[in-house]
Amino acid sequence: DRIVSANSDDIERAAEAALRPRRLEEFVGQPVVRDQLSLVLHAAMNRGATPDHVLLSGPPGLGKTTLAMIIAAELGTSLRVTSGPAIQHAGDLAAVLSSLTEGEVLFIDEIHRLARPAEELLYVAMEDFRVDIVVGKGAGASAIPLSLPRFTAVGATTRAGLLPAPLRDRFGFTGHLEFYDAQDLERVILRSARLLNITIDQDAAAEIASRSRGTPRIANRLLRRVRDWADVRGSGHMDLAAARAALAVYEVDELGLDRLDRAVLHALCTRFRGGPVGLSTLAVSVGEEPETVETVAEPFLVREGLMARSPRGRVATAATWQHLGLVPPADGAT
Ligand code: ADP
Repeated sequence: DRIVSANSDDIERAAEAALRPRRLEEFVGQPVVRDQLSLVLHAAMNRGATPDHVLLSGPPGLGKTTLAMIIAAELGTSLRVTSGPAIQHAGDLAAVLSSLTEGEVLFIDEIHRLARPAEELLYVAMEDFRVDIVVGKGAGASAIPLSLPRFTAVGATTRAGLLPAPLRDRFGFTGHLEFYDAQDLERVILRSARLLNITIDQDAAAEIASRSRGTPRIANRLLRRVRDWADVRGSGHMDLAAARAALAVYEVDELGLDRLDRAVLHALCTRFRGGPVGLSTLAVSVGEEPETVETVAEPFLVREGLMARSPRGRVATAATWQHLGLVPPADGAT
């Protein structure tokens, strides 16, 4: 997978687990969400009650799973983990719910991907702490209500807008995670380096931070790759030169763009004179599926102002030409 992907796979998850902050005060950045969450949790604890259900929204890799774990830790309870795609049938969710113990936190990742019947079961469970177990089929079927212990659901979604309103309304609190600024990412990197027993100069951490696309997951991954370089080709110590050399090997440039991002921009400027060009045409010209370009490269490029979408297709911006060191055609679209 791409080194600058915001998603992780199973192997990487093990490496990530070691770097997760365990308590709210260790969680770097996101002051607004941290403060709000701290209030929600402490108010409930003072009342001796279970906190409201919590929805966390934001792009991948910003700390939603970490926060769910922190919520359980702050409450002194255990965490149960599931996800929208893992629940195939409403019965799967009923089984998870009915095995919860009093006060537990149930984390549902990618909650926007729950199938409709499971979603409906979840409404009732969240609101009334009850599931209706259907026995029998057809006309003879009947629902047996089963009461559940009070639990706190923590849902995570990449886009709160994708959630149906009735489900969204069941959450007493929604925290929106924002991309991190370079300063906070630098703190993430310095913290991770400490945990991994890596010695790193501050300017090296800043260099990695500025190429991490506002995402702690990417920052931690780049840190590991720079460590590899420092161990194998350097002195083991991570200084600015090591960080730059390692990131050059992995073809991650100063803005955090990788080979695919640059290929897309390059094609847009040199083959299509800065556009507008249709997504499929652009994708074919770099040998990729349109979906890959649209979901993997485009969001970051658009967010950084390196590409724009117009009704007639993708267009280069002044920043695109500048980043590639190219001169736009005098009569060009941009
Ligand atoms: P998400 O669930 O939003 O995809 P995760 O919670 O799995 O993201 O975070 C990805 C990685 O980034 C984890 O290794 C986590 O430790 C690290 N991370 C995320 N947010 C922070 C933060 N605020 N401070 C320190 N590390 C963080």
